[in-house]
Amino acid sequence: MRALRRFTVRATLPEPLAALDDIAGNLRWAWHPPTRDLFAAIDPAGWRSVGQDPVRLLAQVSAPRLAELAGDPEFRLRLDAVHADLRRYLTEPRWYQTLPADAPVSIAYFSPEFGITETQPQYSGGLGILAGDHLKTASDLGVPIVAVGLLYRAGYFTQGLTADGWQTEQYPTVDPGQLPLRLLREASGAPVLIGVGLPEGRTLRAQVWQAYVGRVTLLLLDSDVPDNGPAERAVTDRLYGGGVDHRLVQEALLGIGGVRAVRAWCRVTGAPAPEVYHTNEGHAGFLGLERIRELVEPGELDFDAALRIVRAGTVFTTHTPVPAGIDRFPRETIERFFGGDNASPGMPADRILALGAETDPAVFNMAHMGLRLAQHANGVSALHGQVSREMFASLWPGFDVAEVPITSVTNGVHGGTWVSRPGLELAQRAGVDTSDSAAAEAPYETDAFARVAAMPAGDLWAVRRELRANLVAEVRRRLRASALRRGATEAELGWVADALDPDVLTIGFARRVPSYKRLTLMLADRARLQRLLTDTDRPVQVVVAGKAHPADDGGKRLIQEMVTFADDPRLRQRIVFLPDYDMRLARFLVAGCDVWLNNPQRPLEACGTSGMKSALNGGLNLSIRDGWWDELYDGRNGWAIPTAAGVGDPGRRDALEAGALYELLEQQVVPLFYARDEDGVPGGWVEAVRHTLTTLGPRVLADRMLTEYVDRLYRPAALASRRMTADGGAPGRELAEFAGRATAAWPAVAVEQVELDDRTAPALGAALRVRARVRLGRLTPAEVRVQVCTGALGEDGSDELTGVVTEPMRLVDGDPDAGYSYAADVPLTRAGAAGCTVRVLPAHPLLSRPTDLPLVRYPDQA
Ligand SMILES: *Cc1c(COP(=O)(O)O)cnc(C)c1O
Repeated sequence: MRALRRFTVRATLPEPLAALDDIAGNLRWAWHPPTRDLFAAIDPAGWRSVGQDPVRLLAQVSAPRLAELAGDPEFRLRLDAVHADLRRYLTEPRWYQTLPADAPVSIAYFSPEFGITETQPQYSGGLGILAGDHLKTASDLGVPIVAVGLLYRAGYFTQGLTADGWQTEQYPTVDPGQLPLRLLREASGAPVLIGVGLPEGRTLRAQVWQAYVGRVTLLLLDSDVPDNGPAERAVTDRLYGGGVDHRLVQEALLGIGGVRAVRAWCRVTGAPAPEVYHTNEGHAGFLGLERIRELVEPGELDFDAALRIVRAGTVFTTHTPVPAGIDRFPRETIERFFGGDNASPGMPADRILALGAETDPAVFNMAHMGLRLAQHANGVSALHGQVSREMFASLWPGFDVAEVPITSVTNGVHGGTWVSRPGLELAQRAGVDTSDSAAAEAPYETDAFARVAAMPAGDLWAVRRELRANLVAEVRRRLRASALRRGATEAELGWVADALDPDVLTIGFARRVPSYKRLTLMLADRARLQRLLTDTDRPVQVVVAGKAHPADDGGKRLIQEMVTFADDPRLRQRIVFLPDYDMRLARFLVAGCDVWLNNPQRPLEACGTSGMKSALNGGLNLSIRDGWWDELYDGRNGWAIPTAAGVGDPGRRDALEAGALYELLEQQVVPLFYARDEDGVPGGWVEAVRHTLTTLGPRVLADRMLTEYVDRLYRPAALASRRMTADGGAPGRELAEFAGRATAAWPAVAVEQVELDDRTAPALGAALRVRARVRLGRLTPAEVRVQVCTGALGEDGSDELTGVVTEPMRLVDGDPDAGYSYAADVPLTRAGAAGCTVRVLPAHPLLSRPTDLPLVRYPDQA
């Protein structure tokens, strides 16, 4: 039908069942087992056929069945209990409510994708799943987050395969009427409409859907409204689809429109304005511009003062060290968008462009803008923090890499979403309170994992087998469906009934397919892999899944290579590629696989979270030491594939790392799995599972991650923001004035002379007197800090200091014309070759860190 408009007729629930609407309307059902069981009980077959989606279930359940349930006292008791539990969950004090009252009253969290449930395909991979887990955990812990995203009408694609293994893409039609979403409305009942200016005098409009993720509201902007022309209507069509201009408008809607949506939501619901803004990757970075505009437009503050205020309360999380993963625009695209007739008063285009400047003058870099607009920034694992400090060091010229103000908060995963049902039941048998109220009090420092690990080996092994068997059954269902879609007939599919074996060592590899993740590394030596798969006594089996970005033909070729290999009749019962990796398939895989394989090119995997999900279920990781595995591998909780990162030739590097992988499998993994005691239990394996549960379980939970965000980023950001916004923004103005003056004066700042008092050879334990002469130009001694940096010198003869210790120098005398002399007595605490240097930094009580104003002066290299 042309111009078909869709609508959904919702079943009217009989009065005694009205609470079902309420329960279906809150996405807590996505991770709350008793709620899921309640819906399943309405119609077990229907529940499966609608993909375990409560809203679709309620839309299709028959009137007689509803009448029957309405008259069933047992069902109604159960319904009331679930409903009461939801109300308790939504209102009772949680962990956050035990914090001091200065914790932020509200935090806005922006992300281009959210993976909350597979029934809402609004995510492509790890970034979105992480955002979903962030919200669910915020809900469990009572963290007052309001989240902002876009509602993609065609979401992310569903993956299929052609007969010869090429990826096909199908875009689902997302009908908001069939989702648990509620339109944000004015008091008058009219839908709230957000407007964002576009070049050439056009305006993009969007309505705002609210999704309830437990206690957290997620606002989703949707441009498919009658007020828009066809082009504007299509802005929120697909996640990561379209060209540069399309992406820019999407990101403008997310960042600028998103802030406006938050304002409207606060106005309509009476919620307090956020004090902290957290942007999950650079895509939502324009939110900072919008907040500057809000402050500049009334005329009291200029761009610089507003920038100081906005930065103080902004948190930016960078998620990738892969250059292709960094969001960039041609500079002129940005100029066109924010200049000309679409410019806002007080927002000069050159100032906006400067925020995204990078080494390539033709490029506007969203990550650079993110870092310049955020006083608080982090990477997503310890290693990624280090890599990010190196990667973005150019934004803080003159500072040591270690001083680059990017910290790290290692990702985590939401236990309620990723711990399997059998795992949860085992925990209950171990005496663990698995209700979410227990989790809220002591977020992750519980002994729950230790208790599970202390269960008898036979019990642990029985659960592992059950999970593997569930996976095998699901693989067979999916394999059959996929083979039929690829053109096979039922008559040819007898082999599927015996594909995989519930008692064979099962290795999982599932992730998106960018090249650095090396989907096909395991195929490097096919004969060797084949021997592993087809060993008669101790075989392994492999389950592979993953989507390539629709525009990535290279990734699709890798998938095709894998599919072709797995299609081989000699191997197809031991290695399978399952199309359409999504959260549902992920739950089967991370629970059922004994070994979770990850072989990225170190250090390109920022964190990786699927291995964490596996660990929560007692899976053992077999991975390159990259991302989270680099910091949490301890020699006993899995295996580290040695990396050949120093080898320049990528082909040779792959061959070396693949060889190491096969060797680990042959020498360690396979023997440990098949070494059985008289009861058929592999004792050594179960020990490793126990160790994984106790050491990794608490560390990989998103509760640990979120409490770190709150303590280390959100609370400091709120304090900094309050400090800057006091007095109508006077401190912001004062700091901006100082920043301007210091920047202008800086060329005249110089360290002219550094002298060491070396009349006696410096001895360990003694103090070394250091003097310096410094010129400050138009700055006064009160406006700078002079420091001496001491460190050890390596044996390579270079000037690089390690283990640098920085100490303040005191002003001895001087005046503006002659310059100033400074001195310090540096305690010598380490023997060996050492060096020191002196530097000058701007100082102001409102600067929270030296790097807040990236100005630093060392002695000239003479
Ligand atoms: C967890 C998850 C990811 C991210 O996993 P990585 O290990 O970071 O690659 C991607 N897709 C789905 C469906 C997931 O569940």
